[in-house]
Amino acid sequence: MGKDRRDGGRLGAGVSRVVYVNGAFVPEAEACVSVFDRGFLFADAVYEVTSVLDGRLIDLPAHLARLDRSLREIGLPRPATDAELEELHRRLVRENGLTEGLVYLQVTRGVAERNFLYPPDPRPTLVLFTQALPLVDRPEARAGLRIVTLDDPRWARRDIKTVQLLSASMAKEIAHARGKDDAWFVEDGLVTEGTASNAHLVSRDGTIVTRDLSSAILAGITRAAILAHAAEAGVAVEERPFTVAEAQSAAEAFVTGATAFVLPVVEIDGAPIGDGRPGPTVRRLRARYIEESRRRSV
Ligand code: PLP
Repeated sequence: MGKDRRDGGRLGAGVSRVVYVNGAFVPEAEACVSVFDRGFLFADAVYEVTSVLDGRLIDLPAHLARLDRSLREIGLPRPATDAELEELHRRLVRENGLTEGLVYLQVTRGVAERNFLYPPDPRPTLVLFTQALPLVDRPEARAGLRIVTLDDPRWARRDIKTVQLLSASMAKEIAHARGKDDAWFVEDGLVTEGTASNAHLVSRDGTIVTRDLSSAILAGITRAAILAHAAEAGVAVEERPFTVAEAQSAAEAFVTGATAFVLPVVEIDGAPIGDGRPGPTVRRLRARYIEESRRRSV
């Protein structure tokens, strides 16, 4: 089995968090959503994950902008203004004494009689909770990730951040069952993205190659930050799809995500990347991302 089971653990360990559900801050044991909620019945819901470092939120405005887009794409009214959502994030971080980890936010189309048609007057369910997690000091940052590739079985609107995550969950299980860390999805011979991350390579001439944005992948907030940092540092970037073979013969490979930040990939389908150890470009990108996030987080 792969080592990292942190995201597969059970609730709690005796620590009761304060959770936000539809207007109320309640102890987690009292945080409930109806069995008739369309998030539960149809995965009719979108979400965001915003990282917290030093008790401050990383890139919250970008996460709220993407939430807004996801809601528009599924035709769901906003449950609150950006200022209100920001205040909910802040209050949860404060009340739970969170210094490092994440705030998870989910909006569903709410409670309705089970029917594939949308309810005409939805009353969205809004839930936010925190999770404490080490983000900076992660063993994978030192060891790198070993990746398996799998055919991408997901729907065609991966640009919308929905809670339909079973295919990603199954893929990660497959990777772990094979003794690896995670999976990259492949469609028409080209890498789409990771189970919960964007996938990138560093070519032998030092160019960062990353798939261009489309409905095939999620427009990662961390991806955007890394590309901006690369541009500032004079590193060339090519936004285009790449094959598994190109990634396997690259100088370096890596993933980005809100809680991963930047993590090196050292093996793909058994083939070592570069010398099989995290390389200098990815190490620099990770250090720069952490430094900039510390500086810009609010
Ligand atoms: N792609 C997928 C499928 C994801 O689930 C995620 C994050 O959860 C990402 C990419 C990375 O996005 P972000 O950097 O905004 O966390």
